[in-house]
Amino acid sequence: MAHIVILGTAAAVNDANHDYTHFLLLGERDSPILVDAGSNPLGKIKDLGIDDEALQDVILTHFHADHVSGVPNMLMHMWLLGRQAPLRFYGLHHCINRVEDMMGSFGWQEYPNFFPVAFHRVSERFRAPVMENEDFIITAWPTKHFNVPTIGLRIENKVTGKIFAYTCDTEPTESLLELAKDADLLLHEAAGPPPGHSTARMAGELAARVEAGSLYLIHYQVWNTDPTPLPSQAEEVYNGPITLCKDLDVYEF
Ligand SMILES: [Zn+2]
Repeated sequence: MAHIVILGTAAAVNDANHDYTHFLLLGERDSPILVDAGSNPLGKIKDLGIDDEALQDVILTHFHADHVSGVPNMLMHMWLLGRQAPLRFYGLHHCINRVEDMMGSFGWQEYPNFFPVAFHRVSERFRAPVMENEDFIITAWPTKHFNVPTIGLRIENKVTGKIFAYTCDTEPTESLLELAKDADLLLHEAAGPPPGHSTARMAGELAARVEAGSLYLIHYQVWNTDPTPLPSQAEEVYNGPITLCKDLDVYEF
């Protein structure tokens, strides 16, 4: 079994109990994969008993602060810990170019003996390959998130054949129908009404249309807002099991 470890659940305004939305993919055969880095994930990875050198792949969905602002701290921490293992980033040109600029602002080229970091640019189109390892095949679709190029992910477990679909930040859009088709597990944002985002009910509508096996709601409002009614809003239109993600939840797929 592979596992998804939820490292954060909040939309762009987080609080002490809800970190920014990011998660880890843990397969049975290969190294972990981190999806987004809105805060510094290394402490949580350490608490999970995972050696941070084992983390070698990071997918960045888009260049919004709550998804990428942890990158400089993460890289600096790794460097200070004496990391030698390479680290690979995957994302759209728009995002990767800005991450490189951001690191340039911190002058990281002058840090002595920095470990190898590679940037892989993902095409902005339907079914764009992101990466493949022994555990997963990961493909991206563009989503509709204001005017910021953003990708959602379809992750196939090579061992079980199960599909995990992640919408990332988006309002309802055509690409999601293909991205999430027949997903066993659909992780959908629920930040609020469009433009740029979706309500829990819209997440339920997609889950019903693509006949998802289960729906998980994430990237929701927490500041002065109670998220507990969100599953009942999705339940009005979707009959399958619905979970409101909590930080550090672990799901099998
Ligand atoms: Zn965003």
